[in-house]
Amino acid sequence: MASEQGTVVVIEDDTHIADLVDMYLRREGFRVIQAGTGEAGLAAIERERPRMAILDIGLPGGVDGMEVCQQLRAKHALPILMLTARDSELDRVLGLELGADDYVTKPFSPRELVARVKAILRRSDGSTARSEVLIAGRVEVDLVRREARLNGEVVPLASKEFQLLQFLAERPGRALSRQQLLDGVWGPGWYGDDRTVDAHVRQLRKKLGDALPLGTVWGMGYRLG
Ligand code: CA
Repeated sequence: MASEQGTVVVIEDDTHIADLVDMYLRREGFRVIQAGTGEAGLAAIERERPRMAILDIGLPGGVDGMEVCQQLRAKHALPILMLTARDSELDRVLGLELGADDYVTKPFSPRELVARVKAILRRSDGSTARSEVLIAGRVEVDLVRREARLNGEVVPLASKEFQLLQFLAERPGRALSRQQLLDGVWGPGWYGDDRTVDAHVRQLRKKLGDALPLGTVWGMGYRLG
């Protein structure tokens, strides 16, 4: 009976909130792993391979919720629900820009949270099989093996080149500024300049050629597809 719904990792330093979320999710048949810091949460996710993560934005220690979200997005297609204490647009926008699937603002009702969790899992279950290999033009972007394939052959990419390709392929048709690409791929704490993005785009174009429909948006950045 227990854990028939799979595992959820809850990364939240407020133990009252974590326990409450834990209790409600268990009632619904989830197995819950709690982590009080970003580092512990990332380790738990690597270890447990959960179905989803619930992630507080404000966490103690060196790795806050934003950074956890970003690190997860760089590696996994894991669904993420973010918790935010501040009902500000900034948090909402940042949370979603970083690739969170949804967010709730504290204080929230546990029932609402459970409903959001189920909705996210329903959406992600439908797309799990597809979302592990993204198609960008004639290029397959395999998120599990972390490789790009063209005509069935692996095209060797540097780690950041792959991450940039993934970031673009996850947002097909969207014009992305160099700053958005820097923040999304290199992280907001990275003080590089726009030329870094351009250099990596050049490499992707060189390696994947016209199989990759990667266009320049003049004066702004790039768009895939
Ligand atoms: Ca907190």
